[in-house]
Amino acid sequence: MIPAPFDYVRPTTVEEALQAIAEGGEDVKVLAGGQSLIPVMRLRLAAPETVVDLTRVSELRGVRDDGDAIVIGAMTTHSDVLSDPLIRQYAPLIAEATETVADRQVRHRGTFGGALAHADPAGDLPAVALALDAEFVIAGSGGRRTVAAADFFVDYLTTALEEGELLVEIRVPKREGWGMHYEKFNRVAQAWSIVAVAAAVRTEGGRIAEARIGLTNMGPTPLRATATEQALTGAEVSADAIKAAADQAAEGTSPSSDLNAQADYRQHLVTVLTRRAVTAAAGL
Ligand SMILES: Cc1cc2nc3c(=O)[nH]c(=O)nc-3n(C[C@H](O)[C@H](O)[C@H](O)COP(=O)(O)OP(=O)(O)OC[C@H]3O[C@@H](n4cnc5c(N)ncnc54)[C@H](O)[C@@H]3O)c2cc1C
Repeated sequence: MIPAPFDYVRPTTVEEALQAIAEGGEDVKVLAGGQSLIPVMRLRLAAPETVVDLTRVSELRGVRDDGDAIVIGAMTTHSDVLSDPLIRQYAPLIAEATETVADRQVRHRGTFGGALAHADPAGDLPAVALALDAEFVIAGSGGRRTVAAADFFVDYLTTALEEGELLVEIRVPKREGWGMHYEKFNRVAQAWSIVAVAAAVRTEGGRIAEARIGLTNMGPTPLRATATEQALTGAEVSADAIKAAADQAAEGTSPSSDLNAQADYRQHLVTVLTRRAVTAAAGL
């Protein structure tokens, strides 16, 4: 279907974008890669009065080193994330998960910030951002504020972004010396996750010193597998200890049932995928 008519604005700076959003009327939508927004507009599930296209806002693109963190511009495409050396070095989990997002065409247009702002529970990047303790820098008419990943994902397709605000960049703490792995389960290549697990672990002297685990599609928002993280902390790096901890991965989750899987199947699956993800991250 063809989208309903809308006004179109293409700013070149964040300031201009914020102004365009403020002046855009009742219903304004920001356009990043358009890989989620355009289909929704074509189905007329969204009919914004104004579309503010961010593709020419060059300050929102790219990855930079900022001391103890790397900073990823919201408009950095999935393809650019994949070829970035800072991400490979300090947050390889992001690259590994991004490699599983859709196909080359979608990765060429879709953006890191767009995927996070969209907050689809089956999206691969929210759980990764949560596991890595990312921070979200948001710009609005009153200035900038920073929101922790744990507070950014509020509900199904809902984030802490308020009306008139823009996600500008995402700060990811550097985690050198950590092992990381993204384990995704889908039925066919390039499909969305039925369930996926993002694991980051730091080992010391044959034991797991720290573990951070994010779950994809196990509830309306990405979740942390806290019971598993606690069970892993201080545990021996062994197949038995990892399995015992992974068996608790469904605790506190509330997955939905759909044509791909029933909720109880997802709750079983998450224990299997957590075991695989932690085993790989721990280098076993
Ligand atoms: C065929 C197909 C398969 C896919 N498979 C997967 C998959 O396997 N895994 C996966 O994770 N994703 C998948 N995706 C989604 C893909 O990752 C998209 O890139 C992502 O959902 C949206 O990013 P975008 O840049 O295209 O955002 P857009 O579609 O442009 O925007 C999405 C939403 O976010 C808002 N938004 C965007 N940027 C900002 C910003 N800077 N500040 C505030 N709000 C903003 C928009 O207003 C809109 O509401 C798939 C998409 C397609 C089309």
